[in-house]
Amino acid sequence: MKQYVNNIYFGLKSLVVGLVVTFKAMIQPVVTVQYPREEIDITPNYRGHIELVPNPETGESSCIICGMCAKECPSECITVKSEKSGDGKTKVLSLFVQDFTKCSLCGLCVENCPKGAIQFSDEYDLAGFTKEMFHFDLIKRLKERQ
Ligand code: SF4
Ligand code: SF4
Repeated sequence: MKQYVNNIYFGLKSLVVGLVVTFKAMIQPVVTVQYPREEIDITPNYRGHIELVPNPETGESSCIICGMCAKECPSECITVKSEKSGDGKTKVLSLFVQDFTKCSLCGLCVENCPKGAIQFSDEYDLAGFTKEMFHFDLIKRLKERQ
């Protein structure tokens, strides 16, 4: 009989302890979001792939095609090319591709750009089926952002 009462006592006690834990959790502030329906603000220090910074006046890239970012990249994942402009006197940016599959997010490209023409993007939800899908055409992406 004593064992029977003890079992009931411990059963009820564990039930109460469990309910206390549950109710405590119910009144605590919610720290999760219903991703992808909800999204949180990304911290300013977040490093996504690189992207071209638009000139505030023209909306075009400020890149002067010096090639410094490509030279400094230890992973050799940046390709920058230029071509002559219509009058043949100046050169214009014709290709700027980052192979994000090789990027270590070291930041050397961004730090060494003399014009501040590239920055890290805040894109974090990248997905793809092939490596080529992560070869980012930054000129195209700059146009798409405008
Ligand atoms: S962050 Fe580093 S590895 Fe990535 S592209 Fe820039 S220099 Fe290369
Ligand atoms: S270092 Fe800057 S200015 Fe030079 S090619 Fe790279 S992005 Fe353009």
